[in-house]
Amino acid sequence: MMREPYLADPKETIQVIQRYGFRFQKKLGQNFLIDRHVLEKIIRAAEITEDDFVLEIGPGIGTLTQYLAYHGGHVAAVEIDQALLPILQETLKEYNNVTVICQDILKTDLAALADRYNEGRPIKVVANLPYYITTPIVMGLFESHAPVESMTVMVQNEVARRMQAGPGSKEYGALSLAVQYYAEAYIAANVPPNCFLPRPGVGSAVIRLKKHEKPPVQVADEALLFGLIRAAFNQRRKTLVNSLANGAGLPFSKEELTDLITGLGHGASVRGEALSLAQFGALADAVKEKLTESEAGGL
Ligand code: SAM
Repeated sequence: MMREPYLADPKETIQVIQRYGFRFQKKLGQNFLIDRHVLEKIIRAAEITEDDFVLEIGPGIGTLTQYLAYHGGHVAAVEIDQALLPILQETLKEYNNVTVICQDILKTDLAALADRYNEGRPIKVVANLPYYITTPIVMGLFESHAPVESMTVMVQNEVARRMQAGPGSKEYGALSLAVQYYAEAYIAANVPPNCFLPRPGVGSAVIRLKKHEKPPVQVADEALLFGLIRAAFNQRRKTLVNSLANGAGLPFSKEELTDLITGLGHGASVRGEALSLAQFGALADAVKEKLTESEAGGL
């Protein structure tokens, strides 16, 4: 029988940290979980079962890792801070289904890692993320060719709301669209600062991102779609026509862009923040068609 997780307790955590003389590195986003209810909620939201292969990013001293090992099949945990390795060796010694990999997650070849450890199973990513690199980690995982099925991650509260937001709300933006292109997003729990050691200066939330089998909009050119979304939200207060005329690098005049946007049924002064993902998809396809026409005309 595997030992039940025992680290999710402020006293245990402090003892381990003191025994090893560990010093928290703020720049690595080190805020360790010390609340068992939150840990249990993460496991429930991620729907971890003994058949699962789980990728954990940033195991810290192994608090969440113990839960993942206890409930899951195999856990690969990628941690950048070498000072944590001897601690993990101790806290995970009773869990024989964990592989700790000392590496920067942003430099990790996830598809290769999956090939090596997951035996063809889909990957469930579960993490209390280092907040300074939330977006590159999440987008990197979506864009990698690794078979990621879902991500259940602790992020800054405000970032969770942006990921989940829809058109018209003030949190809606490029991140909402990028995340929702790949996944269905829902906030599973709000988590206050006192559930961590040390306490972060911001509120947190657990967000579950369940990857779509295929994106909800099909476009001819994905890179163009994301380029238009970025340009539309770079200058949030401007109209979509002006944002695209100034920031999208398209070879069209303002008049041509106005015609294109009104031709899709929008007002000439519509802002990007009013468009849904499907409407951005239609815009990307219309721009693509016009680009193809003008290339053909130029020949
Ligand atoms: N999972 C632990 C917990 O919940 O108590 C620790 C979470 S802490 C918020 C984030 C962890 O990510 C830290 O252990 C930190 O050292 C690690 N980390 C920071 N940057 C990283 C990177 N680029 N690659 C891998 N791990 C990283």
